[in-house]
Amino acid sequence: MLTPVPFTKVKFTDSFWAPRIRTNRAVTLPIEYKICEETGRLGAFDWRKGQPHEPHWFWDSDAAKWIEAASYALADERDPQVEAQIDAYAASLIRNQLPDGYANSRFINVEPGAQWANLRDAHEMYCAGHMIEAAVAYFEATGKRELLDAMCRYADHMIATFGPNPGQKRGYCGHQEIELALIKLYRATGQRKYLDLAAFFINERGQGTSLLHPDKPGAYEHFYDLEARARNADPRDYWAKNYEYLQAHKPVREQTEVVGHAVRAMYMLCAMADLSAELKDDTLLHACEALWTHLTTRRMYVTGGIGSGGANEGFTADYDLPDDTAYCETCAAVGLVFWAHRMLQLTGQSKYADVMERALYNGALAGISLDGAAFFYANPLSSAGNVLRQAWWDCACCPPNIARLIASVSGYQYSSSGDGIWAHLYAQGEAEMRVGQTPVRVSQTTNYPWDGAIALRLSLEKPATFAVHLRIPDWCDGFRISINQKPIANTQLQDGYLVLSRLWADGDTIELELNMPAQYVYANPNVRQALGQVALQRGPLMYCVEQADNGAQLDRIILPSVPDGFAAAHEPGLLGGVTVLRGDAIALDESSWGGALYRHAAPSASAKQITAVPYYAWANRAPGEMRVWLRAQP
Ligand code: ZN
Repeated sequence: MLTPVPFTKVKFTDSFWAPRIRTNRAVTLPIEYKICEETGRLGAFDWRKGQPHEPHWFWDSDAAKWIEAASYALADERDPQVEAQIDAYAASLIRNQLPDGYANSRFINVEPGAQWANLRDAHEMYCAGHMIEAAVAYFEATGKRELLDAMCRYADHMIATFGPNPGQKRGYCGHQEIELALIKLYRATGQRKYLDLAAFFINERGQGTSLLHPDKPGAYEHFYDLEARARNADPRDYWAKNYEYLQAHKPVREQTEVVGHAVRAMYMLCAMADLSAELKDDTLLHACEALWTHLTTRRMYVTGGIGSGGANEGFTADYDLPDDTAYCETCAAVGLVFWAHRMLQLTGQSKYADVMERALYNGALAGISLDGAAFFYANPLSSAGNVLRQAWWDCACCPPNIARLIASVSGYQYSSSGDGIWAHLYAQGEAEMRVGQTPVRVSQTTNYPWDGAIALRLSLEKPATFAVHLRIPDWCDGFRISINQKPIANTQLQDGYLVLSRLWADGDTIELELNMPAQYVYANPNVRQALGQVALQRGPLMYCVEQADNGAQLDRIILPSVPDGFAAAHEPGLLGGVTVLRGDAIALDESSWGGALYRHAAPSASAKQITAVPYYAWANRAPGEMRVWLRAQP
């Protein structure tokens, strides 16, 4: 078991993440506050009938995720103005909280009496979960506990309402989130009852038999069927047609395939991993491992984006990974980062860090513009030029989700364990951690992700024996390692980590150099949408070609059979400073074609130099075509 080094103990000083963290604080969070205020989200608890901006089911979660993200920024540096904004919202919530602790703006103000009547659709506990995460983050950043206390009262109300005892509901939320939040509340307060409620929700999920599958016998009826009938609705009259959409089609330990809505799946899996750690429950870990294997070998994009289909905002079929219609919700990639991070702490296996890095640098980061002011909801892998980021979305889950990830991104870099320290991600900065009682400071110097040279200097009060675990990424085909400039020859990896165990002294410096050539990525031949095509990767970054650099009709480009001709060049003035890949290709053309639709002679082709830019940076210039997968000579 690893313990993450919290983001408050890791300060990035690099040219990649540090500017993004500053932009997040200076641009993104103020924009999100302003829109949440203008749209009525921040006034939702004080809304009264007849006023504009009727609170929607999701709204409390949008406000909450902004508070959580802003709190991470406050943990870095306090800001009285932001704290006054959060305090005002908390006061509004507390003023309107019901005497029994219930706190949802929609069901207090718009639909009183309908509380907890439709757990399948109404998102009440989803909102509660985000508000709990916000309250914990704000308390940890500022020490102010009013919002935390209010959320404890709300959680206590849920403990009274939900459970196996007579008079309680054996229900659970249609949109998972409350489970992982209750575990955070348990960790923040030490109150075991919150962990127990999280376990109840996870254990109860998918029990019984659905009326939607009336032939299957079950121990008792599916909760969502029961509650539908209780509100005089036909359980079969459900747009999603089945409970796979919300991962309630079978008990969680029996689930072996990732299905349904991708964000719900990720939040559920986060809670399952957390519960496995807290309760030492290997059955949950094994379920997570099976679902991980299914996801990462059959249903994940090369960007770490997940969820191919827009209809269910989620998973479709094995190997169904179309590029132009890829849904790949930003929240789903963020959720994959969260889950991968938890699996990494449980196992110490680098395969989880590899996917965490892939989703972080590509699928998630593309969700926000370079200026921090516009957002993608869906993240396709090719575009005809009509896909643009927007300033906001009515269903605004994604903008504050990427904001909370960026505000806390340094927390994904290191862990500690009983025997040493672990570096999962590489970025220049300073970190403080402990091995047992021994404080260790790590200064990392690198230009990652643009360069594979990494130096870690250890600061110790006195010499100490421990292990330094360095992740060797899955994309890296060769590396060199030295300690105090003496090369190390024995470089056996353990679960993807290079383990350096010795007596360390103050000032010891480890130098790691990762090969970082331009590489082709090929898809499994079952991915028919990528057949005959390759994607360009360098280091952790996936690349794409854009019309801005290459002209239109990108689908006519054919790359050479090997990527050796691609050269990396850093362009400080381009897209906030990126390393581009340039190489020679050919492009089919129409010059000798004529007007026929079909003919027996192949079209002519001409030489074309192409320039690829990191995928996360696409759509930051004039609208135009984009492609990740490109045709290649076999
Ligand atoms: Zn979203």
